[in-house]
Amino acid sequence: MHPDLERLKSLQEVDREIQRLTDEIATLPRRVANVEAKLASAKSQIEQEKSKIKQNDAAKRGFESEIQSLQQKISKYREQSLDVKTNEQYKAFLHEIEFAEKQVRDYEEKILVTMVEAESHEKNLKSAEAEFKTQGGLIEKEKAEVRARSEEDEKALMEWQAKRGELRAGIPAQPLEHYDRILPARKTALAEAIAQKCSACNVMLRPQKYDEIRSNSQIMICDSCSRFLFYDPSHEPPPAPPKPTRKRKSKSESTDGVEGEAASDTDQPSVSP
Ligand SMILES: [Zn+2]
Repeated sequence: MHPDLERLKSLQEVDREIQRLTDEIATLPRRVANVEAKLASAKSQIEQEKSKIKQNDAAKRGFESEIQSLQQKISKYREQSLDVKTNEQYKAFLHEIEFAEKQVRDYEEKILVTMVEAESHEKNLKSAEAEFKTQGGLIEKEKAEVRARSEEDEKALMEWQAKRGELRAGIPAQPLEHYDRILPARKTALAEAIAQKCSACNVMLRPQKYDEIRSNSQIMICDSCSRFLFYDPSHEPPPAPPKPTRKRKSKSESTDGVEGEAASDTDQPSVSP
């Protein structure tokens, strides 16, 4: 391969690694933020559950005190009912007692409901506390990991940048300018020429041009996608097997120049990636 092409190829690999590291460094803080968000959500759930448990408990105590006063009322009615003079009055007391007893049953029912609710809030609280503990343990680990990874990446980035500077210093200005224009636009600045095509945009290369690329004597650019073209002889597909020779037939049949027509004049706009 042409030495400048070799350098451009290495430069592209270095630029790709620099991009990868830069992207990674930018996303690393998100890992800590994710854990922090989970931690905050668990904390707020704990507070919510605790406040519900408190409310629930207050309601239960309220119902219990209602029952207590109702029961005092009932025993008072019972005592008073012993002293009544008429059947009417006695019935009125019985009615009051029954009504108070029904109220007691209603409050007992409400207490049961609060107890069931309390159980579920306790359960939620426990799981939120467990989650808080898990995330709390994770956050220091995550922070340490992110810090270490960032340092590693920054160090590697500096090394790659030094390497990039060295490589660029060894490449002539013109191809370097072309590389800097093509890489951001096309994502890759080099393409392998293989089987008479540019492997990036798939446009056929003229035979003369393909031969020049194969000779590696100068830097060639794809007319269609403008990438640098390089050639690797080990990737060339094996030549088509010779056609079986048939007796007395087709003198004009030959194995070369078959693709000549397709390869010529391919300057028409073509598929680009
Ligand atoms: Zn191309």
